[in-house]
Amino acid sequence: AGRLAGKLCFVTAAGQGIGRATALAFAAEGGTVIATDRDAGKLAGLAAHGIETHALDVLDDAAVEAAIAAAGMLDVLFNCAGIVHQNTALTCTEAEWDLAFALNVRAMWRTMRAVLPGMLERGRGSVINMASAAGSIKGAPNRFVYGTTKAAVIGMTKAVAADTVARGVRCNCLCPGTIDTPSLGERVAANAAAAGSVEAARGAFVARQAMGRLGTAEEIASLAVYLAADESAFVTGQAMVIDGGWTL
Ligand code: NAD
Repeated sequence: AGRLAGKLCFVTAAGQGIGRATALAFAAEGGTVIATDRDAGKLAGLAAHGIETHALDVLDDAAVEAAIAAAGMLDVLFNCAGIVHQNTALTCTEAEWDLAFALNVRAMWRTMRAVLPGMLERGRGSVINMASAAGSIKGAPNRFVYGTTKAAVIGMTKAVAADTVARGVRCNCLCPGTIDTPSLGERVAANAAAAGSVEAARGAFVARQAMGRLGTAEEIASLAVYLAADESAFVTGQAMVIDGGWTL
């Protein structure tokens, strides 16, 4: 049996990148996985791995409540959905601020609010939130509202952990450095003009990583598996940095 045998796991933003790699890793470890994403088309290949898939926009509060109610008693919630704006305090728009907080922070509260009663009732469960090394751990240039929201995710994670620690439920967050995912490709493309070329823009992201390479979605998924599994039973309220030495 795998490390997640018998566990029912719910993943948001599982269509690509870290969410997808984690849904696959959870399933490979024997977990029963419900993978969701705003874009149902991106979930198509997951069914072949025995994963149940549903379209879910985490900004739709009613849809989130319905999806979690339909899922049954969850053992693991992985809140992966998030958006990376590239801005400063001077260039951030009101719309970017509102979307970043709605998606990166408020939506995670909503899913936790829907999942925690069942976990507390049964006295077990693991919530994993997606934060970032960029935010309160490290200030990153041009990540104003992103870093602000990811700092909030760490605070929210610790607050939930403090309220659930004596009741069998754990809540931790992941703080990755720069990970090679489709949305990183979009950020590279957006920076290409300023950097001189796509290669130079990508090189600037690689140069941030002390190891001289980007992380992979599978490396982040491995940490998510650990936090989801009972082997991490003594770990709660932690901001787990996995960043190739960026914050070293
Ligand atoms: P990504 O950004 O490439 O993909 C994001 C996925 O989220 C897409 O499949 C998209 O359809 C989905 N999505 C977007 N809005 C949604 C919504 N409202 N509801 C449901 N799904 C929605 O994936 P990624 O780069 O692996 O990022 C995933 C998470 O990891 C984000 O929270 C991001 O902030 C965080 N993160 C990424 C990096 C990195 O370098 N890639 C580093 C640290 C943290």
